[in-house]
Formats: sequence, C-alpha cells, structure tokens
Amino acid sequence: MLNPATGEVVGTVAATSLAETDAAIARAAAAFETWRAVAPGDRARLLRRFAAVVDAHLAELAGLEVRNSGHTVGNARWEAGNVRDVLDYYAGAPERLTGRQIPVPGGLDVTFHEPLGVVGVIVPWNFPMPIAAWGFAPALAAGNTVVLKPAELTPLTALRLAELAREAGLPADVFTVLPGAGSVVGERFVTHPAVRKVCFTGSTEVGTRIMAGCAAQVKRVTLELGGKSANLVFADADLERAAATAPYAVFDNAGQDCCARSRILVQRPAYDRFLELLEPAVRALRVEDPARETAEMGPLISAGQRDRVAGYVDGAEVAFTGSRPDGPGFWYAPTVLLAHSPADRHWREEIFGPVVSVLPFDDEADAVRLANDTEYGLSGSIWTRDVGRALRVARAVEAGNLSVNSHSSVRYWTPFGGMKRSGLGRELGPDALHAFTDVKNVFIATEE
Ligand code: NAP
Ligand code: MG
Repeated sequence: MLNPATGEVVGTVAATSLAETDAAIARAAAAFETWRAVAPGDRARLLRRFAAVVDAHLAELAGLEVRNSGHTVGNARWEAGNVRDVLDYYAGAPERLTGRQIPVPGGLDVTFHEPLGVVGVIVPWNFPMPIAAWGFAPALAAGNTVVLKPAELTPLTALRLAELAREAGLPADVFTVLPGAGSVVGERFVTHPAVRKVCFTGSTEVGTRIMAGCAAQVKRVTLELGGKSANLVFADADLERAAATAPYAVFDNAGQDCCARSRILVQRPAYDRFLELLEPAVRALRVEDPARETAEMGPLISAGQRDRVAGYVDGAEVAFTGSRPDGPGFWYAPTVLLAHSPADRHWREEIFGPVVSVLPFDDEADAVRLANDTEYGLSGSIWTRDVGRALRVARAVEAGNLSVNSHSSVRYWTPFGGMKRSGLGRELGPDALHAFTDVKNVFIATEE
C-alpha cells in the first residue's frame, strides 16, 4: 500500500488465496446458523456496541484513511462517522423486521423476512469505509453473516473495522474481511454457492460481469456503479451560490466519486457569468497535504489513475485550472474543460478525477435531453428559483439521486442508488434491509 500524497509505502497486506477464501466462506456459513438465531434485541445491542467502538476509534480510522487513500482529514472523519451512523441506524432494525398478517379463509397467513445466508460485499478504493458499511451493517442487522473484500489499494480501514467488530463482541466469523484480488476473492464470492448475495460497488464494466456471473446461480445482487452526473444551472438560479458550490460537487475526493457532478450544463444567457464566477472558486480550492485541517482536496489514488485522468485533458479545451502541490505524490490540479459537443469524450466517459466539463443549453427540454444523453443515471443537481421547473426537471432526469439548489446525495437514512447502467437496487434508507432478506409466506390451517 502506498500513501498517495507522498508515494511512500504505508504497509503491506498479504493477499487471501482461493483456498483461504473458500475456508472463510465455509466458516461464515457455519456462523450464520448461530447468528440468525441470536435474539433480535441482542443482535441490535451488538451492532450498537460495534457503533460505539467505531466512535471511540474515529480519529485512528480517519488517520488510516488519510495515509492509505489520500482523503482529506475532514472527509476521512466524516467517513468514519458515517460507519458509526450506519451501524446505529441499522441497529434499530432487528426488532422492527416485521412481516405481515394477510387475511385468508381457513387459517392464518403470515410473512417472514428471512436472512439469505452469507453475503459477499465487494468494495472499491474511492470510499473504503462508507461503502463497506452500507453493505455489512444492514446485512448483519438482517441476520446474515458477511465476507467483505476491500479494494487491493485500500484495505487498511476495513481490516481495522473487522478487529473493532470483534472487540465489540460480534461472534467470530460473523464479519470477515478478506483482502486480496478481485479476480480471486471477489470472483469467488460470485461463484461460491454458499454466498447467497453479492453487494458490489465499483465500475460498470466489472459490475456487468458480476451480474452475469450471479445469474448462473440466480444469486441476489446489488450493484452501485459508475456515473456521469449533470449539474443543471438555469439562468434564473442564484448563480453566485451555484458557482461557489460547483467545485465541491465534482472535486470532492479529487473527483473520485461516483456522484461527482462532472457535467455542468448552463443556460445560455447565464453561461459567461457562471464561468466568470466559477474561475475564482476553482482557483481558491485548497489542494494540499490531506492531513492538514485546511485541505479541501488531496491527491489521486495512484499514478495510474493520474495518468488516466490526464489522458482526458490532452487535446481538450481547458478553460482554467486550480492549483496542485509540487513534489511527489499522485497530484492533479482541478481542471475545467469546455465541451464543444455532447460527443466529446470527456463529456461522455466517467473520468473519476478532478476534471469537469461545461456545456451551454437553450431551454428546459434541451437541458433534460442533454442530462439524459448518457448510459449512466446516478445523481445530479438542479439550480433554479422556479419551484415548478425544479419539480418538472427532477421528475424528468433519469437518475436515482437528485438535489435542488444543493449538491447533497448521500444520507444514511434515505435511499441511494442508480438508474440505467449506474446500478441495480438501492442501499441505505428504510428499505435497504429488505435487499438482504427473502420474503417467506406461511399459511397455517385453522380448520378442524
Ligand atoms: P473496479 O475495478 O470495478 O473494482 C471494484 C472492486 O471490485 C474492487 O474491490 C476490485 O478488486 C473488485 N473486482 C475487480 N474485478 C473483479 C472481478 N472480476 N470479480 C469480482 N470483483 C472484482 O472499480 P474501481 O477501479 O475500484 O473503482 C472505480 C469505479 O467504481 C468507478 O467507475 C466508479 O464510478 C465506481 N464506483 C461507483 C460507486 C457507486 O456507488 N455507484 C461507488 C464507488 C465507485 P481489486 O482491488 O483487485 O481491483
Ligand atoms: Mg479496477
């Protein structure tokens, strides 16, 4: 593992082999029999205790993420806090996992939400802690056991979370972290018959293969994939606020965010003024050592990612850029590109770096058409003072998470997920628990 801010080695972690993966899955399957039988109140208490232990280690977890992933310390603290909050939220679930009683003649009909068994969670490198928790917390609350594969580049916080779970009193083999290669550990979650569900976050390319692999066993699957989200700025919007916030909506986590608003669409009469306001906001963004309290953007995850991002900027028209520190580390300055047409490569493909493209539009219909002209559908923002337009556009844009006059997209108590090729199923919120259960219907005859 490298520190992305310096390129220095921060640790080494042995990769789990195929045989070790099979053994861990077998232990998780055995642990399922006892975990599912733990009384709801006791399972809830254990998850609340897990949340409390995470809370007691927030600074340590955040520090690990700064070193392993290059996240700003402010973001990393939020991410560790998010793990605690997601655990606390789903700790409320075991006693509330109620079924229904449905009127039928001749007896009693009831439904149960049965846990699935072993759930395999596959996590990418961009948000190692939150994305892990969005899978393991509801899965455990519903009575499943979990095997989790972190990304090869960023396993340190997940490994620490598994230790903290044991410290909190979770029984052995209920939550196991298996660092290693996607092609070995991740692939085995897909092919192993004892793994009953795969919860995958990552690229659309790998997610598509995982869905096909899961189909062979009719294995349940949740997919959170890529995005190319639009930030729609209408001429009647509060342009100052729209421009001041736009950099954070795309450059947060150095743009390595599936929700990044990486396509800015500005209504033609406001186009020049918006760019005038955007330029100082981008130049003022603090790109620096992510361990500094003042850092707003850190480095990219790897040299490979930096080169990939640079490849999108080569040959494109650069409007202006922000700053980046000199010296070692995988740095890239925030960059604003002018798109000439929606066919431009940087307009169409997910860059996953601190690069945003800007394009003008004419009217509401044009804005919606351009926003939807993508295979993705994860998130997006709409800036307007016209509430009717805000609602019309929010209903018309094909994306799972939209915000009006704001860029927020993730709250642990509201659903999160993508339309089209951005994913399948929803995480977080009140309904995510049901994605980790199957409904069972039982009829009991009462006739003599
Ligand atoms: P990735 O290559 O799809 O990898 C994601 C995870 O899958 C990693 O743990 C990876 O392991 C594993 N993996 C790779 N090949 C596999 C296989 N054949 N079978 C099973 N698992 C496999 O994506 P990434 O490069 O880490 O992340 C960037 C992408 O993820 C972007 O496209 C981004 O939009 C997307 N993403 C989406 C969301 C969302 O919520 N929608 C969130 C974050 C990221 P290795 O570590 O060995 O590669
Ligand atoms: Mg990959």
